[in-house]
Amino acid sequence: MTDRIVILGAGMAGLGAAHRLRAEHPEGPALDVKLVDKKTYPGGHAASFRRATPAGDFIFDDGPHISFTRDPRIQALFADNVDGAFEALHTRVDNLWQGFRIKHPAICNLHGLPTSLVVEILRDFVDSRQSARGDGDAPAPADYEQWLIAAYGRTFAETFPTVYGRKYHTAPARAMTTDWLGPRLYRPDLEEVLRGALEPETPDVHYVSHFRYPTRGGFEAFLRPFVEASTLELGREIVGIDPGRRRLSFADGELRSYDRLISSLPLPVLIQLIDGAPRDIREAADRLACTSCVLVDLAVDREDVSDTHWTYFYDEDLIFTRVSFPHLLSPHNAPAGTSTIQAEIYYSDKYRPLGTTAEGTSPEDHIEPTIRDLRKAGVLRDDDRILLRHAGLIPWANIIFDQDRPAALEPIFGYLEELGIATAGRYGRWGYHWTDESFKSGEEAAQQILDRL
Ligand SMILES: Cc1cc2nc3c(=O)[nH]c(=O)nc-3n(C[C@H](O)[C@H](O)[C@H](O)COP(=O)(O)OP(=O)(O)OC[C@H]3O[C@@H](n4cnc5c(N)ncnc54)[C@H](O)[C@@H]3O)c2cc1C
Repeated sequence: MTDRIVILGAGMAGLGAAHRLRAEHPEGPALDVKLVDKKTYPGGHAASFRRATPAGDFIFDDGPHISFTRDPRIQALFADNVDGAFEALHTRVDNLWQGFRIKHPAICNLHGLPTSLVVEILRDFVDSRQSARGDGDAPAPADYEQWLIAAYGRTFAETFPTVYGRKYHTAPARAMTTDWLGPRLYRPDLEEVLRGALEPETPDVHYVSHFRYPTRGGFEAFLRPFVEASTLELGREIVGIDPGRRRLSFADGELRSYDRLISSLPLPVLIQLIDGAPRDIREAADRLACTSCVLVDLAVDREDVSDTHWTYFYDEDLIFTRVSFPHLLSPHNAPAGTSTIQAEIYYSDKYRPLGTTAEGTSPEDHIEPTIRDLRKAGVLRDDDRILLRHAGLIPWANIIFDQDRPAALEPIFGYLEELGIATAGRYGRWGYHWTDESFKSGEEAAQQILDRL
């Protein structure tokens, strides 16, 4: 009999799992593989949305999405999926701090900031390097706050990344670990910092130096053929999993048996769905923290609102953390002569619950404050005509790497392994996965299942 494999979630990870299972039998379906998602559209976070207005159609992704994978295999897969029709762009990113606009990363581009601040940053940066050199046996920084101070000196750490981090991760830096950093925070040497303080032009050192984006159809176009090749059941929410009988319950009352299960659902959701999950496992899942994101999408009747693909905002009196400009990713994302703006505003149940700020609980309540602050920041002008305004909530956005995470994950993964449930993706592996990594973790989960067959 053919094994019935159910993949929960039809985002990058679920599609990666289905892709790997298809590759096992390229000539036809020897495996019975179904992808199930509660959303009525495929792609999960990698989906794109076309919004029609009298001024024309605008394309927005579910949060800014670009492909900067360095994996040649994934680059080739994505390129094939759009028949080579993608934009290959050189990344332009900047920062706004108290009205000063500087290139990213800020530590290498201090030129133009107030002299007294630059002097303090340089003094602390030199001190931090000297103490690092003089204390070779010092223990590794215990948390992200200490790491920032050790890496950049106190003034820069407290003026820039600590404040930005609070807006982006919602958790204080001292509550966070450092295992997620990888290449995300650039560590320059003294010469680079000094040059950037003295000269307006600096080399590009952002870890995303180049990226690709589909010419038509938004980011989602990169996955369309994966979707078309898969057997999908959309609009089908799973509300229970009986691992003993290997049976799934759907919101519409259907019960369905499975032989193998791959899940890309957020771990706290998955654990809640499992009948008889032990109390300690449920409690561990409750300790996992993730941000949610209110996205405000705007379109305006002017094409030059930004020179950069996105901007980081450090001021706590500006509601948004990051603002990106989708019309700069492809000329087909917006009609000629217009611009699009996507602002991200972060919350988390654990550290900054939605509804505890002046903006209230509804995403729509964030639209006017976003427009107000875009004017304050000089992105919008008073006379800009707004052609489209839309707000939505991404309930699962970025995993928070807080101190509770490692200890909570260990028993959860052990338990799921005992049950034979393979997990994949950003929320199934509870990591910082980008789209390529989510896709590959789906392939790996499928491989585990194939190994067991
Ligand atoms: C704001 C933001 C910006 C990002 N920018 C980039 C970028 O520029 N480049 C990049 O490479 N990556 C980016 N990422 C990361 C990228 O979005 C993820 O790596 C990837 O989309 C995650 O895919 P996934 O399949 O693991 O999860 P998801 O896409 O979340 O898929 C999980 C699916 O499970 C479904 N589901 C949940 N509960 C149930 C249930 N009970 N029953 C049935 N189905 C259920 C959900 O509907 C969802 O579709 C960004 C992420 C965010 C949040």
